[in-house]
Amino acid sequence: MDNSTEYAYFLNKLEAAGFEAYIVGGCVRDMLLGRTVNDWDITSSALPEQIMSVFSELKVIPTGLKHGTVTAVRSGVPFEITTFRVDGSYSDSRRPDSVRFTSSLEEDLARRDFTINAMAMDVRGELYDPFGGRNDLQARLIRAVGEPERRFGEDALRILRAVRFASVLGFSIEKQTAAAALELRGLLDNISRERCRDELSKMIMGTDFAETALEYREIIAQIIPELRESFDFEQHSRYHRYNVYEHTVRAVAAAPQDVTVRTAMLFHDICKPQMFRLDENGSGHFKGHAGAGAKATETIMRRLRWDNSVISDVCALIERHSDKIVSEKQIKRLISKLGEENFFRLIEVMKSDNLAKNEFVLPENDWFDECAQLGRQFIRENECMDLRQLAVNGNDIMSLGAQGRQIGECLNDLLGLVIDGELPNEREALLERAREVLT
Ligand code: ATP
Ligand code: MG
Repeated sequence: MDNSTEYAYFLNKLEAAGFEAYIVGGCVRDMLLGRTVNDWDITSSALPEQIMSVFSELKVIPTGLKHGTVTAVRSGVPFEITTFRVDGSYSDSRRPDSVRFTSSLEEDLARRDFTINAMAMDVRGELYDPFGGRNDLQARLIRAVGEPERRFGEDALRILRAVRFASVLGFSIEKQTAAAALELRGLLDNISRERCRDELSKMIMGTDFAETALEYREIIAQIIPELRESFDFEQHSRYHRYNVYEHTVRAVAAAPQDVTVRTAMLFHDICKPQMFRLDENGSGHFKGHAGAGAKATETIMRRLRWDNSVISDVCALIERHSDKIVSEKQIKRLISKLGEENFFRLIEVMKSDNLAKNEFVLPENDWFDECAQLGRQFIRENECMDLRQLAVNGNDIMSLGAQGRQIGECLNDLLGLVIDGELPNEREALLERAREVLT
């Protein structure tokens, strides 16, 4: 939805009531960059209760009254409106101990993390940029507002945010800011795992993730120490031109913008170092790394509190990422086991993996495209690849005398036979086979 002028309503209303009001932070940055704005933040001299009364006719949610934030919804789009504020002291590298409202826009901008995020714009389009954010946007630089050590010391999440913005915007991190981020990375241990995970998830979606992750690998390893083993780990394989870590981050960046696929790429070779074997010809092998990787990934993702459904999708993809697809039968089996959505993701995983190997493997991606094509065709033609499509159901099998787990096992065996073309998907033929098996 185009909501690019919707904010004017809010600024006008607040101004008409005698307050200052600006759009601020990420939305100003993204507007100046010509990028799509994710969320609209408004900063105002009005106090929370005053904001609530100015917008009394709208749906207004007091999302964070203590911090001066209310959310107003207009045409289904949420706008966060926050009173000008200064953060109090930080004793835990995490949250300010207190916040104080102020009447100064500049003080509000000074509490923000990076110069490109510390700009405000009024309804007439005038920019307020006391820290040189616009110059840094032009120079494509992430620079802390004020002294980087102090700012990262106040809130260590900013360390990950710096790396995330570098990855997503394709910017560099200014030298002193980068040095402080690397030096203070240990403070990330004070940040909740969910918040780190959220930043990481945004970071891996960046177009410049590979370069950023190479340069700031120590920061990434602060939240996923398991990745450290793959740093500089040579593969001794003709298929590969990069070490395990560089291959990994390049595979992430080669993947489409699907967060499940990109997360799978981030972890897909996590167990390669520990499964490494050198054969008598001096070639490296990593037998079992996919299965082991799926298990290790589950542990990591649980620790970082990912949703169970995402964990299960990502691990299923990792477990099969190095399978060879050699037949139509196998495509059907994969669709049957993974479900349609994850089957197509698996194809993307395999292609992204190849894109970060030696060039001679690339023609294999044409085959993967063909596999996806075939998969789409099987789905379109309603080929039986799912228990729901099988011409018999659990009741049928039960009436043959099967009980409990036996029922599901029998149905799955039948489905396998139908997929493999050994039985037609016809009721009589299936019942007959079931009778044989069950007696
Ligand atoms: P995006 O919405 O694309 O993730 P953003 O810059 O808008 O990026 P938000 O988390 O939405 O990030 O925060 C909005 C604004 O609040 C930021 O632009 C910044 O000015 C300020 N901000 C957010 N988090 C911090 C922080 N940890 N420290 C200081 N300022 C912050
Ligand atoms: Mg934002």
